[in-house]
Amino acid sequence: MTHEILEKEKELFLHTYKRIPIDIDHGEGVFLFDKNGKKYLDFFSGLAVNALGYAHPKIVSAVSEQIAKFAHLSNYYITQIQIDFTGKLLNYSGMSKAFLTNSGAEAVEGAIKIIRKAFGPDKKIFSLTSSFHGRTYGALSLTAREKYRKGFEPLLKNIEQINFNDVKDMDAKLDNDTAAIFVEFIQGEGGINVLNDEFVQKLISLRGKYHFLIAADEIQTGIGRTGKPFAYNHYNFIPDIVLTAKAMGGGLPIGAILTSKKLGDVFSYGNHGTTFGGNPVCCAAGKVVLEEVFENSLLKNVDTVGKYLLENLIKLKAEFPKIIKEVRGKGLMIGVELFFECTEIVGLMRERGVLINCTNQNVIRLLPPLIITKENVDNFIVEFKSTLSGIK
Ligand SMILES: *Cc1c(COP(=O)(O)O)cnc(C)c1O
Repeated sequence: MTHEILEKEKELFLHTYKRIPIDIDHGEGVFLFDKNGKKYLDFFSGLAVNALGYAHPKIVSAVSEQIAKFAHLSNYYITQIQIDFTGKLLNYSGMSKAFLTNSGAEAVEGAIKIIRKAFGPDKKIFSLTSSFHGRTYGALSLTAREKYRKGFEPLLKNIEQINFNDVKDMDAKLDNDTAAIFVEFIQGEGGINVLNDEFVQKLISLRGKYHFLIAADEIQTGIGRTGKPFAYNHYNFIPDIVLTAKAMGGGLPIGAILTSKKLGDVFSYGNHGTTFGGNPVCCAAGKVVLEEVFENSLLKNVDTVGKYLLENLIKLKAEFPKIIKEVRGKGLMIGVELFFECTEIVGLMRERGVLINCTNQNVIRLLPPLIITKENVDNFIVEFKSTLSGIK
């Protein structure tokens, strides 16, 4: 069955994804079940999307209730569910205005438009080396890694890179000609790289001097993933633009551009738009996610269980010094860097019923649902330890 579906995939689809060879039947909480009834502990959660796990009863009922009224009206209308959701989002992010999108890349695109409109075509926009901001042309122009860019030039002009955590390089490049800098405070695709305090504090002081914008790409790190509402909360400051998506819809596609008050009227009527963005069914799911994360103590769970997971992984590093090079991350966004490629371990873990991801060749990336318990972590560690013990 799995074999057949994979063959059919090759026939029907553009070859952009290497699919994982399991045929999923359904999910429940932190677990996925394949068609043979095999159970998997999911420590990847649909790429940091399924924050509340699978088939969360509150999401199921909020979505069903909304879809029974109307699935879509278009942005010619404003609806109460959009107001409720967006009000909460602005409140918990500390931002002032919102534009709702369908995806992360679409949020990045809109942010680039805001920056270009506010600063004109000649000012520079920066991103950081090994960054990932999405696949569409504007987002790809910010994405630093060659692997994603190659073959797609020419990309947007006046976009340049600053070396990750390199204060000197940043100091040399940011000046009065700078419009904005896009940052992931913890890089996801890049291998769970955490920006250090020194770099971020210098960035904030340079913003004070040159008045450029800091656009926080919180698409992977946002909505509680790192144990704070947004990753910038670890550095005690508020960016000018915040981009969010992935976890925000609890599995349904919704993203957002959030801006400071002063950017509130860069766009005027007709400057930007989207047909599906802010879809009411997605907003209904998103409202549940925001309530669970920010009002029903899930954020605290991320902090406690995240620390517990990190501690246990650090112990494993001591036990397997020839396999594990470094363990890093915050909350439930953790990277385990190995001395070699991690694809084999990902496969072995899958056989043992645990789903994990490998990014940047040698970094095991853990992004479990935010609802995981210490018991789930214990089970994960048992399987991970057995897998590592079998590696020569
Ligand atoms: C996933 C991701 C994106 C792109 O989001 P899509 O919804 O896939 O378009 C952008 N930035 C970061 C940091 C991401 O993790």
